[in-house]
Amino acid sequence: MWLYIVIGIGVLFFLLICFCLAVANFSFDNFKEKRQEAMGYVAQNGMNILDFVAIINEKYLDGALQVTRCDEYMDHFSPGYIALSPSTLSSNSLASFSTIAHELGHGLQYKKQELNRQWQRRSKNRIIGKFFIPLILIGIVLAVISLLNLVPTFVLYIGIGFFGLAFLIFLLACYTKYKEIKIEKGASKYGLEFLSECMTKEEVKICAEFLNSARLTYWGSLFRTMLGWTMLTKSDKMFK
Ligand SMILES: [Zn+2]
Repeated sequence: MWLYIVIGIGVLFFLLICFCLAVANFSFDNFKEKRQEAMGYVAQNGMNILDFVAIINEKYLDGALQVTRCDEYMDHFSPGYIALSPSTLSSNSLASFSTIAHELGHGLQYKKQELNRQWQRRSKNRIIGKFFIPLILIGIVLAVISLLNLVPTFVLYIGIGFFGLAFLIFLLACYTKYKEIKIEKGASKYGLEFLSECMTKEEVKICAEFLNSARLTYWGSLFRTMLGWTMLTKSDKMFK
């Protein structure tokens, strides 16, 4: 009886991990594809990327935002400024416009006090996520040695307890990620509003697809944190 329960739990975890790995690998490929597409389009308005920043900054953010530089793929918002990478700044593609509009969206969220603590505490969640696989492995070892009658039966319960803890971590990680992604979604929503002021509907649609694919990578990064050491997710230099 216990053997079947343990096997059942094992199979469920295996399926869960397969699903997570699929998302982790798919989301980044999908993002790169959409990014490539958005990079191929130059905005028809002929607008310079910094003019766009200046217009939105003036209109929505009281002109309070500064532009600074950052490394490749590290574009981000921090209170008071947006940091943009060389490739974002040097192109007038829809990918650049989308990235900047999204960061400006965070600026508006900040102004409206919609950024909560979750957004500022991403790294803590990543650390918690690292306990996921070790807990499962300990659970498996305890269950196996107990089922082989090498140790008293109560060890099996402890093993199942470890599975339970791992599952709680998984739920907690998904929940905090969900909150974080809601904020990312909100930033993109504002960003698309900014973009629709100076772009055609068709262009805004391409930007929206690009921003959506970027958001999926947030789930991917969660699963990669949990499963990265298994070597089964692709290591992608772009996001290190
Ligand atoms: Zn963001």
